[in-house]
Amino acid sequence: MSETDCLFCKIVKGEVPAEIVREGDRTIAFRDINPQAPTHVLVVPRDHHPDVASAAVADSGLIDEIVREAHEVAVADNVADSGYRLVFNTGGNGGQTVFHLHGHLLGGRGLNWPPG
Ligand code: AMP
Ligand code: ZN
Repeated sequence: MSETDCLFCKIVKGEVPAEIVREGDRTIAFRDINPQAPTHVLVVPRDHHPDVASAAVADSGLIDEIVREAHEVAVADNVADSGYRLVFNTGGNGGQTVFHLHGHLLGGRGLNWPPG
């Protein structure tokens, strides 16, 4: 998929609406449209990277920033103390359906381990 057709690039550009909860210089965070927990927020870089591994190679420091931003959202949503999960689904078997890097921040309930 080209970046022009990428759903999360469109959300970054404001062409598709989303419930944005935090904006950083290099990232935005918005609520997942199909939440799997009371807090389910996606933290995405403004730049298009297909997945976490390629972003880690292409842009040193970007993943750190996504983790820091996710933690700030967890604090704001009052789930940092109770605990949360940060997930980067990668590839088909990993359950990735949108190929623009995003960290899932899940919290607000006990989360099963291992996940399904
Ligand atoms: P993944 O399966 O890891 O690629 O995650 C993609 C996530 O994007 C899923 O949890 C979807 O519910 C979510 N999603 C898809 N479209 C939208 C949208 N327009 N706004 C917010 N979240 C979305
Ligand atoms: Zn994109």
